[in-house]
Amino acid sequence: MTDKNKPSLATQAVWAGEKEYLVHGATQVPVIPSVAFGYDDMDEWYEVAIGRKKGHIYGRNTNPTVQAFEDKVKVLEGANAATSFSTGMAAISNTLYTFLRPGDRVVTIKDTYGGTNKIFTEFLPNIGVDVQFCETGNHEQLIEETAKGCKILYLETPTNPTVKITDIKKCAQAGHQAGALVVVDNTFATPVNQNPLQLGADLVLHSATKFLGGHADALGGVVVGYDHALIEAIYHYREINGATMDPWAAYLLLRGMKTLDLRVKRQAETAMKLATYLKTVEGVEQVFYPGLEDHPNHAIAKEQMSGFGGMLSFAVTGGVDTVRHLLPKLQYANRAANLGAVETTVGPARTTSHVECTPEERAAMGIPEGLIRVSCGIEDADDIIQDFKQAFKAVEVGV
Ligand SMILES: *Cc1c(COP(=O)(O)O)cnc(C)c1O
Repeated sequence: MTDKNKPSLATQAVWAGEKEYLVHGATQVPVIPSVAFGYDDMDEWYEVAIGRKKGHIYGRNTNPTVQAFEDKVKVLEGANAATSFSTGMAAISNTLYTFLRPGDRVVTIKDTYGGTNKIFTEFLPNIGVDVQFCETGNHEQLIEETAKGCKILYLETPTNPTVKITDIKKCAQAGHQAGALVVVDNTFATPVNQNPLQLGADLVLHSATKFLGGHADALGGVVVGYDHALIEAIYHYREINGATMDPWAAYLLLRGMKTLDLRVKRQAETAMKLATYLKTVEGVEQVFYPGLEDHPNHAIAKEQMSGFGGMLSFAVTGGVDTVRHLLPKLQYANRAANLGAVETTVGPARTTSHVECTPEERAAMGIPEGLIRVSCGIEDADDIIQDFKQAFKAVEVGV
């Protein structure tokens, strides 16, 4: 962070948002699993219940541990307001359903997260919302479609799994000219590498399950923004529809976030080294990482991100067959669907991010069947590269 009057993100990740929740001299935020909060004074109870006085009533609405989680994310994203959810998908769906009505139009990119894409192709059309998909990275098309008018311009950058980059500033300007709400999924970048609010977004979403928590042991989602009224509207939708974050998850996510800066910087360093190595492997056809100078959106990434993130992908010769043999040979990688964890995690796009799609749909999205997504962990980068080397050797794919 460049603002000299503000502590840096590394410091905020450790300290922000916790103080008012500490009790009995505890130095760590307690888990408060209580479903309800009691009052002897009927007038005070009433005042809290109608929102005139601060306090908690019922766990589906608010909870102190969950609020501490929201406060920390709010500070890390430089936002004024935040509300949390049981999962990242709940954050996304609740945000969309809060604002969209039959007849509304959404403009988005083709490469959104698989679940998000399903909301756009399946659930929104069911309620009469029209969704316009644009080629990810085609800014002319995005701006042109946005200018035709839309209620929400929905972006995600970098994208899953080919880490394409969209220019947030440029698109946010087009969105605001059209009177749209600009929503950005910042899960891959994290606030360490990218601040969409500062680039003009109205709402920023996270699957906290991934990098924010960082330990693959708790599900969660969060939405932040500058405008209290927007977040208040989403909060209201969530408190009634019920996708509330669990206090135990909030505790784990809070604990994970203390090391966010350390983890994400290490993950990005490793990703750069691994991507550079993969480029030299004979049996690797393509490497996708925004930090590589030959990445088609490298210039935009350099402009709007302070780091290129821990996610990369690569395509091997021999397609699915090679993937099937190669991945089990890795010693230091979970073969799993999650990402953003301290352990390196690998998976074929056809089984993870885009399992809902047909091979034809994946091909149309530019996702080769032999594509492997890598979420770099916090292990030593050289150990990870050595591990890939021995795996390639074992299946006789290049050197
Ligand atoms: C995982 C993910 C989501 C969904 O989050 P869940 O916590 O799994 O519901 C949304 N967006 C992106 C970019 C993701 O990686």
